[in-house]
Amino acid sequence: MKSGSPLCRAYPLARRGSKGLLWRTACPPSAPVVRSRRLRYDPAARLFRLPPWEKGVVNKMPHTYLITGGAGFIGSHLAEGLLSQGHRVLIIDDLSTGRIQNIEHLKSNLRFEYVLDTVMNRAVMAELVDRADFIYHLAAAVGVRLIVESPVRTIETNVKGTEVVLEIANKKKKPVLIASSSEVYGKATKVPFCEDDDLVMGATTRGRWAYACSKALDEFLGIAYFHEKKLPVVVVRLFNTVGPRQTGRYGMVLPTFVKQALASRPITVHGDGTQSRCFGYVSDVVEALVPLISREEAYGKVFNIGSEEEITILDLAKLVKSKLESDSEIVFIPYDQAYDSGFEDMRRRVPDIRRIRQLVGFEPRTPLPDIIERVADYYRVAV
Ligand code: UDP
Repeated sequence: MKSGSPLCRAYPLARRGSKGLLWRTACPPSAPVVRSRRLRYDPAARLFRLPPWEKGVVNKMPHTYLITGGAGFIGSHLAEGLLSQGHRVLIIDDLSTGRIQNIEHLKSNLRFEYVLDTVMNRAVMAELVDRADFIYHLAAAVGVRLIVESPVRTIETNVKGTEVVLEIANKKKKPVLIASSSEVYGKATKVPFCEDDDLVMGATTRGRWAYACSKALDEFLGIAYFHEKKLPVVVVRLFNTVGPRQTGRYGMVLPTFVKQALASRPITVHGDGTQSRCFGYVSDVVEALVPLISREEAYGKVFNIGSEEEITILDLAKLVKSKLESDSEIVFIPYDQAYDSGFEDMRRRVPDIRRIRQLVGFEPRTPLPDIIERVADYYRVAV
C-alpha cells in the first residue's frame, strides 16, 4: 500500500496519543472500503434509515465499532462479541475501573485497537468517532462503593463524559448507545420496572443517589440529542450484569461472594439479606447490545436489559456457598458499617424486558448456578 493512501493515514503503524499515552494500532484491514454508512433522517417516518445501498445487508458487512470503557467488564465482552462477528473494534479506556488484563487476549486480533485515554480528551475522541460507524458509550464510574466514596468523580465522569461523546458523535451523526443503569429507578417500589415508569430519587444529601441522578441526566441528554439534533441515540438500562472479569473491588455482590467462598472467608451479607436482585449473564446481555445499536426503531428509546429471575441476597449467599462447596460462614453486616451512615438500599430490582425481547429477541438464558460456576472458574485461574 502506498504511504499516502487514505487507508494508510487511517491506520498508522505506530503513533503517540496526546499527553504521551500509548496508542496501539493494527494493520490495515483487508475489508474493502465501502461508501458512507451514515444514517439519514426520514422526517416523514420520524426514523433514521440506512442509506439504500446498505438495506438488508447491514448485519453482514464488517463495521467499525467504538466502545468507550472497552477495557471494562461489559466493554471487553462486547468487544469480543463484535470481533467474533467479523467487525472492527476500537476501544478507549482510561483504566480507572477497567483493566488491561480484560483485553489482553484481544490485542493480537488485527481488527482490534485500543487507546488508553479518557473520553474527555476531545482530540482523541474526535478521531476515534470519525473512524467509527457506531459508538457504544460504556465509560462510567460504577459500583456502589466507588459512588459512596468518590461522589465528585462519579458525577463528573458520568455527566461530562457523556456530554463529550454526544457532542462529538453529533458532528458526524454517528449512532450512539448509552449504557445506563437500573439504578435510575431509584427507590421505586412497583416491580417489575418498566422503561416509562416514574423514577423515584432519594435525597441529594445521600451520596448513593448521585449515581442514579448522573445516569438519568445522561439519558435525558441522549434523548434530547435525538429529538433536537436528530442524532440516533439508544439508551439501555442494565440490571445487575455479572460474569467473568467483573471485579468485586467496587462492592459488586456476586464476585465478592464468589471470592469469599473460594477463600473460605466469611460471606458478607449486608442488612438482613432480604433485599433482592436479578442477575443477568454478560454474554446474554451482549447478544442484545450487538443488534440494538443498528436498529432504527430503537433510536430515541430506552430498553431494560437483564434477567427476570429474582433472588434475595441471603439466598444468593447460600447458593454460592453450596455451589462452590465452601466452608465459609455467612455473616450479616449492617449497612452503616458496609457503606456509610444513612445508606439507603434498593429493596427489589426486577426488569420488565418485554420491549427488548420484542425488538431483538433477547432472552436471559444462563441460569444463576451456571453463572456462579463460570465466575468461580475465572477467579480460580485468572486472578
Ligand atoms: N451486597 C452484600 N454484600 C456485599 C456486597 C453487596 O450483601 O459484599 C448487597 C448490597 O448491599 C445490595 C446487593 O448486594 O443490596 C447488590 O449490590 P451490588 O453493589 O452488587 O449491586 P446494586 O446494589 O447496584 O444492585
